[in-house]
Amino acid sequence: MNLLEYEAKSILTKFSIPTPKSVLFHRGDPLLIAPVVLKSQVHTGGRGKAGGVVVVRDQAEVEHTAHDILRLEINNEKPVTLLAEEVLDIVQEYYLSLTINRVTAESELIAHNKGGIDIESHSESEFLRKPITKQNTQELGSTLAEYYGIPGQEFALQELLSNLYTCFTSSDCLLLEINPLILTEQGALVAGDCKMTLDDDASFRHTDWRFEQAPSNANFVTLDAKGTVATIANGAGLAMATVDAVKQVGLTPANFLDIGGGATVETIVASFQKIIELPNIDTIIINIFGGIVRCDDVAAAILEARKQFKSLPTLYIRLSGNRSSEAAALLEEVGLQLYPDLPSTLAEVLHG
Ligand code: GDP
Ligand code: MN
Repeated sequence: MNLLEYEAKSILTKFSIPTPKSVLFHRGDPLLIAPVVLKSQVHTGGRGKAGGVVVVRDQAEVEHTAHDILRLEINNEKPVTLLAEEVLDIVQEYYLSLTINRVTAESELIAHNKGGIDIESHSESEFLRKPITKQNTQELGSTLAEYYGIPGQEFALQELLSNLYTCFTSSDCLLLEINPLILTEQGALVAGDCKMTLDDDASFRHTDWRFEQAPSNANFVTLDAKGTVATIANGAGLAMATVDAVKQVGLTPANFLDIGGGATVETIVASFQKIIELPNIDTIIINIFGGIVRCDDVAAAILEARKQFKSLPTLYIRLSGNRSSEAAALLEEVGLQLYPDLPSTLAEVLHG
């Protein structure tokens, strides 16, 4: 799972890794005060080059710049959140990351003495690569100070690496990338940007992991705009089987949708939005086998969608697996019935 910059930085802060002072900004929030750096919170990289990172020094420019960035789509993703940061006086930008070397099965430090938005232009061999362990962060800090050409920052880098290593391991990161690591005119080393990938398989250890998901439409396919039956399923296989079953009983499926393993209430509600935009829908079949997806999250999304979209077509719901009895309880409260399997759901669609 990839985090947004502000989510990654809030984790850095817990491990005493310096980040710029910041506030979050959403549409409709009170105006920010210049000078400020406005940064689009999208999951993709290359925001700087796409115009998603803007230093605003003139107060008169703040409002429209913030709204321009909120409207700017970067690699098919529009931000919901902006990160507004203090403007730093940058002397130098460095690249620093921790990752897992899958060949040697070690944690690895990767560094480059010229960081920033052109990092991709450097060839692999130009980067400094060293195994990093709990024991060698002092030594590596000295190595890094010499490599970056900032001997005065040796202690700061030792402390930084020690904190980064603790952060990397105890947060179950697959990648922790700081680019740029900024040396300021005041002589501080600050994480200017942070990209973090967490290991989904470790989520059972982190009950506090709740992050903004990319509002992805990738798994929604319109099959027949005139179709009358919309489908919501999870897993590509189950989603295809659901579409096939609808067709087999002589109805016209309008769409294919796999809500995916990372589905949340918000992303499922967004799927309902896409469905009601289809012109001929009179039925929605929801077919979920909860594994990673929690059936009670799906139920909460159904309730939310009923609230938000007044003219929702008739729902036929089959939920089983992870937390399905909690889901059933939630839905029964509003008079929604669950069907035990897909054939009985379809029978009800045909004859109900
Ligand atoms: P990315 O393009 O998505 O990696 O976005 P970054 O957060 O790394 O920002 C891109 C670039 O914006 C950085 O490399 C800096 O050169 C510049 N930038 C970011 N914050 C500041 C700041 O506080 N002051 C100045 N002058 N430039 C900044
Ligand atoms: Mn960056």
